[in-house]
Amino acid sequence: MQKGFLPFSRPSISNDDISAVVEVLQSGWLTTGSRCQEFEKTFRHYCGCREAVALSSATAGMHLLLRALEIGPGDEVITPSMTWVSTVNMIVCSGATVVFADIDRDTLMTGIEHVEPLVSEKTKLIIPVHFTGAAVDLAPLRKLAAFRGITLAEDAAHAAGTEYNGEKIGRRGTAIFSFHPTKNITCGEGGMVCSDDDRLIQSIRRLRFHGLEEDAFDRKTQGRQPWAEVVEPGFKYNLTDISAALGLHQLRQLDTFIQHRKTLADHYLNLLHEVDEIIPLQIQPSTSRHAWHLFVIRLTPERMTMDRDTFMTEMARRNIGTGLHFRAVHEHEYYRRIYPNAAEALPATEWNSSRICSLPLFPGMKIEDVEHVVSTLKEVLTQ
Ligand SMILES: *Cc1c(COP(=O)(O)O)cnc(C)c1O
Repeated sequence: MQKGFLPFSRPSISNDDISAVVEVLQSGWLTTGSRCQEFEKTFRHYCGCREAVALSSATAGMHLLLRALEIGPGDEVITPSMTWVSTVNMIVCSGATVVFADIDRDTLMTGIEHVEPLVSEKTKLIIPVHFTGAAVDLAPLRKLAAFRGITLAEDAAHAAGTEYNGEKIGRRGTAIFSFHPTKNITCGEGGMVCSDDDRLIQSIRRLRFHGLEEDAFDRKTQGRQPWAEVVEPGFKYNLTDISAALGLHQLRQLDTFIQHRKTLADHYLNLLHEVDEIIPLQIQPSTSRHAWHLFVIRLTPERMTMDRDTFMTEMARRNIGTGLHFRAVHEHEYYRRIYPNAAEALPATEWNSSRICSLPLFPGMKIEDVEHVVSTLKEVLTQ
């Protein structure tokens, strides 16, 4: 059977999505404006949160969060090493010290048992990750953070639509979402910070656009009130209306996307049940709705004739793309250099880092694609 290449992820862009973008292009107003406002409002309603600020990426959100909290040299930020590098890069760029937390071996999530022993007088911020679209067990972390006067900000890049104990991620506290093309909904590039902390939001809004006091966008100058004043030096992380129009339209389809992702993921789980070489993830029990951003498996080289990297190459040779979410941050060259002893405290991260692999999962896939992936995977494993 000769098929085209099946990537591990592909955005689902409808004709309506395209029309929404074209409409902005024809409107004479391209940068941050009414589409962006509408996107923030709709996202706020979707999550049930108090405030939402749209940005050019989740990484920008991390940067502005650190800046708004005035985190810098001498401060410590706790986050897992099993995450995307962007969070850790931003912490390092702020001048603060990264304290890597280990994860649960089977959910890949950082919980209270990993974070609590790392808290010190210097801890200013804790950033857990809602890995693959399941939910971190937030309640104990919220309690710890409140008790110690530390900010808790959730990396919700995988978690648009995720629910924790019946409540949408983003509804309470502070959460940062990503709309990169592989995520559950996309803007091309984009991000959103949701928070119930008014001061934090006000600061992020200001820092997103040059540190200008006025966030209002002037119709004639496309971007600034002529008399707006810089009240602190800021950045340029605003989201364009072109991107926001796409995000807005994608958001309306998010629940349908998740429904389809769940059908595919359930089918994977059924079929993989009988494959001894593969250990799927477990789902953190208080995840009341899984957004199924990724389908991560762990391979067991001790039961196989090849390692994980060879497995990925062999799958690609058979036209199936796989992903790596993630190569642990402390294993990257720069981080090996600045945190040479990090691995010692991260046994579950290390165990997973050489075993994980993400199988294709996106709304445009069919049940037959899942079957094809699993039969190909079995063929590779027995070769
Ligand atoms: C994608 C991702 C980010 C960064 O999102 P961008 O919008 O690309 O900046 C951060 N954390 C995690 C866990 C991610 O998967």
